[in-house]
Amino acid sequence: MKISIHRGIDQIGGCITEIATEKSRIFIDLGQNLPDGDGNVNDNFANLEAVREITKNIDAVLYTHYHGDHFGLFHLVPDSISQYIGTVAKKVALCKHQRLAYIKGREELSKKEIAKLESMQSFEPKQKIKIGDIQITPYFVSHSAYDAYMFLMEADGLRILHTGDFRGHGYLSKGLLPTIEKLIHKGRIDYLITEGTMLSRLDEKVRHENELKREVIELMKQYKNVFVLCSSTDMERLATFHAANKEIKNRPYVCDDFQKSVLDIFSKSAGKISPLFDFKEPYTFWKGNSKLIKWIQDKGCCMLVRPTEKFNDYTNHLLPLLEKENTVLIYSMWKEYINPKSKHCNKRYLDFVEQFPRLRKIHTSGHASADCLTDVCNLVNPTKGIIPIHSEKSADYQKLPIKDELKDKIIIETTKNENMTIEINKQRTANRVGSR
Ligand SMILES: [Zn+2]
Ligand SMILES: [Zn+2]
Repeated sequence: MKISIHRGIDQIGGCITEIATEKSRIFIDLGQNLPDGDGNVNDNFANLEAVREITKNIDAVLYTHYHGDHFGLFHLVPDSISQYIGTVAKKVALCKHQRLAYIKGREELSKKEIAKLESMQSFEPKQKIKIGDIQITPYFVSHSAYDAYMFLMEADGLRILHTGDFRGHGYLSKGLLPTIEKLIHKGRIDYLITEGTMLSRLDEKVRHENELKREVIELMKQYKNVFVLCSSTDMERLATFHAANKEIKNRPYVCDDFQKSVLDIFSKSAGKISPLFDFKEPYTFWKGNSKLIKWIQDKGCCMLVRPTEKFNDYTNHLLPLLEKENTVLIYSMWKEYINPKSKHCNKRYLDFVEQFPRLRKIHTSGHASADCLTDVCNLVNPTKGIIPIHSEKSADYQKLPIKDELKDKIIIETTKNENMTIEINKQRTANRVGSR
């Protein structure tokens, strides 16, 4: 058997992992390198020829979730290769790409992306997928993208667990350790392939989503007009703001029509399981919606915004109608995007947040804390190896307070034994930038 990390060692994002037996070959994720602060992507795989070359003889691509750094190259995959993603994740990705199709000059590309997405296979949690002699089982994880998975892969008498991106401090994280416990009860794990995003961000305090909610409620009591800048597909964070807003009587939860269609997907899936994710009927903003604008002037609002031209137009119209001292923007994304001194700083974000009279930052990461990574490594206790991907410096994994015998099993260079070859490709790294 062979595990190849084509990309993802010593960089966050652009993940491509291959699992191969004599008979079958699969990819876990086919991600694009994350863009730099100006939105430019430097990625030597982001073209048809390169993807055709790397996917030669690949039987299937399975995606852990819909973030671009795991999913971004899906449209370049030849039709002969089957691709898989979670059922709800597929709907969200489709919704997003249908929206992108409205951007001028993007029509042809969007058409191809949508066709590719529509033909994609989808799976439910724990649904076993058989690709040749490799059996894959997806297990749900909490992440800043909803319907994200870790994959258990079984073949040649070996069991490999690939965590994808995950965290232990979300509303939907409760099942993380019990799920792993059940997995190891059925049989030992030989190799653990895991993310390590937070190892280079140890200064960032990781808080539970519930704690954020309490802080947001306080802020909502203080300010009448609350604008929120967060990821439009991060269901748990959207639920934090929705739940906090419900604490304030008669204040509308407002968004644009695109965000509404994403929220509808969440309400119809996760919302059926927990009322926390039932967003009911959010109110759709447009400049001519005078009834809603009157209501906002009277009772205030919790309005989801994005740093786009459309929202600049909306805020230019709406902000002058509201009392400055009662208006705040909650910035709920990675702090570096609006840090002028950071290489990740995004001018579009910076300009957008500056138009608001007051700014508050309330955020917690979509990635596992060092403590959570330690718990997962110790619990999985793989017999043969830990392969750390999705971190700026994979060698940092040695600093985790995991069991000493596990530290000896951390693999960051190509290795070979009689049953397994692990190929770690460092040359293909093109763009070392951070993720959300
Ligand atoms: Zn990622
Ligand atoms: Zn992600």
